Amino acid sequence: MLHNWAQETEQQVHDIFRKLDGISERNQWKVIRAFQKHRVSDYHFNGSTGYGYNDRGREILDLVYADVFGAEAALVRPHFVSGTHTISCALFGLLRPGDELLYITGRPYDTLHKVIGKPGDGKGSLQDFGIGYREVELQKDGSVDWEEVASQINERTKVIGIQRSRGYDWRSSFTVSEIADMVKRVKGLKPDVLVFVDNCYGEFTEELEPTEVGVDLMAGSLIKNPGGGIAPTGGYVAGTHKAVELTAFRLTAPGIGGEVGATLDTLRAMYQGLFLAPHMVGQALKGSVFAAAMFEKLGFDSNPRWDAPRTDLIQAVKFTDPEQLIAFVQGVQRAAAVDAHVVPEPWDMPGYEHPVIMAAGTFMQGGSLELSADAPIREPYIAYMQGGLTYAHVKFGVLNALSALAERKLIVIKPYIT
Ligand SMILES: *Cc1c(COP(=O)(O)O)cnc(C)c1O
Repeated sequence: MLHNWAQETEQQVHDIFRKLDGISERNQWKVIRAFQKHRVSDYHFNGSTGYGYNDRGREILDLVYADVFGAEAALVRPHFVSGTHTISCALFGLLRPGDELLYITGRPYDTLHKVIGKPGDGKGSLQDFGIGYREVELQKDGSVDWEEVASQINERTKVIGIQRSRGYDWRSSFTVSEIADMVKRVKGLKPDVLVFVDNCYGEFTEELEPTEVGVDLMAGSLIKNPGGGIAPTGGYVAGTHKAVELTAFRLTAPGIGGEVGATLDTLRAMYQGLFLAPHMVGQALKGSVFAAAMFEKLGFDSNPRWDAPRTDLIQAVKFTDPEQLIAFVQGVQRAAAVDAHVVPEPWDMPGYEHPVIMAAGTFMQGGSLELSADAPIREPYIAYMQGGLTYAHVKFGVLNALSALAERKLIVIKPYIT
C-alpha cells in the first residue's frame, strides 16, 4: 500500500522535481565554471602543514567560493569548528564595543544565544564586550516588521542580522529575493549599515546566493550544504574584501588573517564537496518535497508545503502526539546506512529546555546535509527533518517512518484506490 502511495506521490511532484533538477544543473555549471576559471589541478588538493604559508590550494579554494557565491572574497577553512563558530567569528569581526547588532528576522538560531550573551556574563560574548543587541520579532504572517525595524535602527546600529533558514521554527524561510528586498530597505534606512546573513542550510537551494544581492557578509557550515557531504569539517564566509578580512583576523589573529592556517589533509574533500554540493542539495530537496507530500496525504500539516518554493533544506512535519513524533524519528533512523541498529530515545540535551530525540545515522558526526531528523518533545509536536545525500535514501527514510507509525497503530494507511 505504501508503495502505491509513494508512486502516486512521485507522479504528483514530478514537475517540482524537474524544477529542482534545473536548479541543481545550473548550480553545478556555476561551480564547474569557477573551478575552470581558477585552473584547479590535483596539486591544489595537497594540504599544507605548520604555518600553512603559500598554501595554493587554500588560496584557490577561497577564490572559487567567492566566484560561486558572487562575492568579492571568501574564507573557507577547516579551522571553523562549526556554523556557530563561523558566525561568531563573523560577528566579532564586524562589531566593536559600543556598536549594535540588530537581528530583523526574530530570535536567531539557538546556538547563537550564547554568542550574543548578556552584558557582564563574563563569558566573552558579544554583549559581555559591550556590543549592544536588539532583535525585531517577525510579524504573525512571518514577514519582517518594518515599522519596528525603522524604530530600532539608531546611530549605534552597525550590523543587521538576517537568518535565511527557518531553523527549528514553524515559520517560512526567507528567499534570496526577499533578502534582496531587506538589503534595499535597511540600506535605505541607514546606508552605512552592514548586512550579515546566516546562510546555514541555504546554499544551492536557489540559483542566487545572498551575496549576489548586496549582502555584505554571509556564513555557513561545511557539514551542511556546501560541503557536499564530503567535507569532514569547516565553515566559510563570503562577502566584501573588508568583511572577510575582519572575519579572518578574528579566526586567527589580527595581522595574520587568512594568510596562515595549515589545511593538512582537508582540501580535496572541500573541493570535491563543493563540486558535489549542488547535486546533493538537489537530492535532499527532492526528498523533502516527497516527505511533505506523503505526510500531507495522511492529513499532517507540513512546512513548507510540498509545492511551496524552497530556500533551505528543513522540512517540518506537525504530529498530534509525542508517540507519533518518537515513532517518526525512530523510523528515519531505521533507514540509515550507519547506526540503523540503534534506537534513538528522547534525552535531556544540554542547552535545551525539553527532551530532544534525534535520528542521525550519518558518516560525518552531526552532518545535516545527510538525512537526519530531530524533534523537541513538546507541543506542538513538530519533527524537523533535513538532508539526504541521495533521494532514494530520503524516500526509504520516509517509508520506514510511515511503517513505524503504522506498526504502532499511530496512523492508518488506507488501501490505495485509483
Ligand atoms: C545549523 C545552523 C547554525 C549553526 O550551525 P552549527 O554547525 O550547528 O553550529 C546556525 N544557524 C542556522 C540557521 C543553522 O541551521
